[in-house]
Amino acid sequence: MRGIAARKDGKVDLFGQIGHFLADHGLSPEPTHYSFAYDVIADPHGAIAQAVRRLTDGGIRLSRTDIEALGGTVSTGGAAVESQADRRQGEPDARDDDAAVLVAKTQAQVDGFATMMREMQDETRGFGRDLAQSAAAIRHNTPAIPAAAGLDEIARITGAMLTRIREAEMRLAKATDEAEALRAKLAEANDTARRDPLTGLPNRRAFDEAFAVRREHDGPFCLAVCDIDRFKRINDVHGHPIGDRVLSAVARTLADACGDHLVVRHGGEEFAVLLHGVALADAAARLDDVRDAISVKRFRLRESDRPLGQVTVSIGVTAVHAGETLTDAFDRADRLLYTAKAEGRDRVCAA
Ligand code: GH3
Ligand code: MG
Ligand code: MG
Repeated sequence: MRGIAARKDGKVDLFGQIGHFLADHGLSPEPTHYSFAYDVIADPHGAIAQAVRRLTDGGIRLSRTDIEALGGTVSTGGAAVESQADRRQGEPDARDDDAAVLVAKTQAQVDGFATMMREMQDETRGFGRDLAQSAAAIRHNTPAIPAAAGLDEIARITGAMLTRIREAEMRLAKATDEAEALRAKLAEANDTARRDPLTGLPNRRAFDEAFAVRREHDGPFCLAVCDIDRFKRINDVHGHPIGDRVLSAVARTLADACGDHLVVRHGGEEFAVLLHGVALADAAARLDDVRDAISVKRFRLRESDRPLGQVTVSIGVTAVHAGETLTDAFDRADRLLYTAKAEGRDRVCAA
């Protein structure tokens, strides 16, 4: 966005800025585009202006998708702005931008609710005032308003108010539906950001957050790192897609065998487990059962029913000390995993 254009008399040239904004984003001077530009420029600290600044950082043009996500409309006669979402496909920050748009939409929705409530309050106050005046006039039976005319007046005000209430209810119902849809999208975005798409398990981000929460609670908890043995060989012999399937199957077995303890895909063919409310000896015993459950599984190729051979995992597990950082606890578990590998794999090392 360009700087604020000032006129000779020192006043801010709002229309000049709107003109610049339309030109910057390749938008034709249509009323819908003016209206969107006005919303951005008239309230430079508002949610929409902030979202626009985030999206256009580095001189990027707003796309039709961006504008529509922010509540604007791009007229078909307007400049053809290609979808920024398409342009961004595959770029690492696309998800962040989507989240920024979602946050901006939510903020705009909250602002919209606040405005709507204010308007409804104003209307109710106005209605109350009109009604009180008419009632007072009837009570005093002033010549200005004879009794019958006063009743007519109240009926008119009541009728008008009912119409307004009905309209307000419809607006409220629509806004509530939109808020509900946004809430669902936010929940979905929140879940997507914390889930590994291949295995469906929570990811490292979810693990880091869970560790931080767990640290605030009393009681023992343990951290384990679990790595598939000789996984590269599975990829080399059977190909990456089969490797993916084995990875998912191991993830499922791990998660099932760990019950309500948190299992995440930490990266590659490595998983992390947060075992809450258990001391080290119990955690090690539980993880040995998990290791066993994986090693006795007989993987077969779906296409040919040919056996894949035994798949095993090695595990390092440690008790997390009070106030310890995630990095320290994780490093210790990782070193124990390394020991388990060095001692022959398919085993649990605890300390
Ligand atoms: P070790 O017993 O020492 O752990 O041996 P390893 O072969 O499992 O270990 P290494 O670190 O040498 O190889 C891990 C392999 O895991 C290499 C990598 O290509 C593979 N891998 C990581 N992520 C994925 C994935 O998402 N899908 C598939 N198919 N393979 C993956
Ligand atoms: Mg491995
Ligand atoms: Mg590994």
